[in-house]
Amino acid sequence: MINLKDLTYDDLKKLVEDMGESGFRAGQIFAWLHKGVTSIDEMTNLSLEFRKRLSSAAFVSCPKNLLKRTSKLDGTVKYLFGLADGNCIETVVMKYNHGLSVCISTQVGCRMGCGFCASTIGGKQRNLTPGEILDQVIFASADIGQRISNIVLMGIGEPFDNYDNVMIFLKNVTDPKGINIGWRHISLSTCGIVPKIKELADMHTQLNLCISLHAPNDEIRNKIMPVNHKYGVSELMGAAEYYIKQTNRRITFEYSLIKGINDKKEHAEELADLLSGMLCHVNLIPVNRVRERSFEKSSSVEKFKEVLERRGINATVRRELGSDISASCGQLRRQQTEKAR
Ligand code: SAH
Repeated sequence: MINLKDLTYDDLKKLVEDMGESGFRAGQIFAWLHKGVTSIDEMTNLSLEFRKRLSSAAFVSCPKNLLKRTSKLDGTVKYLFGLADGNCIETVVMKYNHGLSVCISTQVGCRMGCGFCASTIGGKQRNLTPGEILDQVIFASADIGQRISNIVLMGIGEPFDNYDNVMIFLKNVTDPKGINIGWRHISLSTCGIVPKIKELADMHTQLNLCISLHAPNDEIRNKIMPVNHKYGVSELMGAAEYYIKQTNRRITFEYSLIKGINDKKEHAEELADLLSGMLCHVNLIPVNRVRERSFEKSSSVEKFKEVLERRGINATVRRELGSDISASCGQLRRQQTEKAR
């Protein structure tokens, strides 16, 4: 059975035409899917006979909302969604003055093994399909009753470890025939899979690329991010430069400050040396405590920021949202899977 949300518009058109219908039907189906229908039966501008035939070959996925938490502090909403095979993922909606931003997952678990991250404990179960990634956006928008203005691929999983499905999702979510979210309103965060950064660069999109750097050198980065053994800091910087050259877009480097590990003045200076002259921005994140990990929040976030700014590197501190609802990704899913055991 085909999940219609896994198909691009062109694939959908082919499917419809192969079934002997006019290609024009594909546009109608695509629009229904993005409006949030949960079954083929709801596509009332298709004939009953075609809906029946389509239902024998395809279906419309719909996540089960297992849990919804709303922050009393800032209105951040967190969903725990159950997938058809019993796995679960998290999605977070943040409310900003400029609109709703949805933070979505791309995999069930993660195999990247970053030392400070909750999502990777227990490894990767599987990739999400393009439809399951899209479902998070559609569900959140329908549930809150407001259009989503920004998407961030910063939930559970490494998007570039599920590159093909993420690309189909991006193609669909930016398609003017559907939800139609502009590339400039989408941010994708990677731990630094170099070949995929280059592949994306060659697509010349306006996507905001975020790179989880978290260390100014190989010695520290090797300790906290195993991916660095494969793609080291200088190779990663080369890929970042290439991305900027191909797209003319500013890159965001994420840097989670961990007490005693990467938060000293000398680290800030070394980071400034590394990024000097690059079209980039640094997003400093006070590390979130994860129960299973021993890393502590840094107490020198502002000092770190000052060093970068003095050196002419643009830096901001990420505002912590939804701290009362375990909004940082991975934690709720962990609590749920532990309960199930
Ligand atoms: N796999 C992607 C996206 C997922 S996480 C990536 O690695 O970029 C989104 C961001 O949160 C990443 O920068 C990640 O390193 C960071 N992060 C994960 N766990 C964290 C924690 N406990 N505290 C602070 N930041 C964390």
